[in-house]
Order: sequence, then C-alpha cells, then structure tokens
Amino acid sequence: MTHRDCLCEVPSEYADGTGQRSVYLTFDDGPHPFCTPEVLDVLAEHRVPATFFVIGEYAADQPKLIQRMIAEGHEVANHTMTHPDLSTCGPGEVQRQILEANRAITMASRQASVRHIRAPYGIWTEEVLTTAASAGLAAVHWSVDPRDWSLPGVDAIVDAVLGSIRPGAIVLLHDGCPPSELQPGTDASLRYQTIAALSSIIPALHDRGFVIRALPQDH
Ligand SMILES: [Zn+2]
Repeated sequence: MTHRDCLCEVPSEYADGTGQRSVYLTFDDGPHPFCTPEVLDVLAEHRVPATFFVIGEYAADQPKLIQRMIAEGHEVANHTMTHPDLSTCGPGEVQRQILEANRAITMASRQASVRHIRAPYGIWTEEVLTTAASAGLAAVHWSVDPRDWSLPGVDAIVDAVLGSIRPGAIVLLHDGCPPSELQPGTDASLRYQTIAALSSIIPALHDRGFVIRALPQDH
C-alpha cells in the first residue's frame, strides 16, 4: 500500500502567507452522541477549527451534531457509510460506501459541502482513490498518530503529538468508535483520554507558535 496519492501533510504552498507553522486536527469515527459534544466544547473554548471524518450511518443518526460542527466552523468529511475495510469490498460496494456517506452528510445538513475522504483504517486502494476522485473527494491520510483509540493514557497521547508535530502535520484523533467496535452503553468515557489530551495539546501547540487551521479546500 502506498500513500503517495493521499495528503499526509499539507505542503506549505497550500497554507496562507502566515502558514509556516500551520497544523491540522482531524477526528475520525464520530459523531458520537456523548463524546463529540465534548470535543466540540474543547475546540470552541480554544477557538480552533477541525475536520471531522464522520461515519455516514452515525451522521444519519446524529444530524444535530453535524449541524453543530458546521455552525461552529468545522469541516465535515467522508469516512464511509459503515466503516468497512474497503480493500475487502467489491467495486459496487466501494462506490456505495462513499456515495451513501456523502448523501447522509448532506441530508444531515444542507450547508455541508463534502470535500475530503479518509479510508477506514487508512487502507487505501487504487479503486478507493479513483472512486473518491470521481466523487470529487480528495484523499486525506495523516502524519501524526498518537493511537488515542487504544487508550494509551492522556500523557502518552499528548507526548506522542507534541513529540512528532511539525509544520503541515495532520493529526489523527478519534471522537467516536466504528460500529464493529462499539460496546453497548458506551458513554463519554469512551474518548475521555482524547478529550483530556486535546485540552492540553491545543494550548501547547499555541505556545510553540503553531497555528491550527482548517484543511485547505483547493488541492
Ligand atoms: Zn475510522
């Protein structure tokens, strides 16, 4: 597998004139009814934008959270309809996963304009890239992965991000959980480490002179 056709870091020419130290926060696997509002609260407190790669069937269940993301200046992007490993899906299924997620997002909010996609598990195939491109979606991977989903501890998440951040970095975090891994009755504790870490990561990035920006829309 290669990531050569995906955006892993944002080249400086796409950042604006002041963007020498721009970095980008992304959240996958939501929206989650308890965790996503807490992530949105932290982002609002620090007034920074993020991109949410949402699962289409969750977007259909939680339209108010999609609307809140957009109202608060965040981007809503495509993370497929049900979060399968797309390398195991046939051509029709790949297309269905991508197009249905787009539809679910735009049904949740008419203001939504879906421009980016991230493949579940970061597993990209030529077919996924071609299908995404024909749907008008740019493929976005990441360059900083603190593996917050594995609950390594708040400090470990903070240290992993701050230890590898650099200008143009795209940081992978999670505000939810794929359907196949969701335990019944999970509440905000599911992503409490991510939320606590985020409260430290944002001011630490600002202290180091980084500017947290929305992903560029025109690459
Ligand atoms: Zn995912």
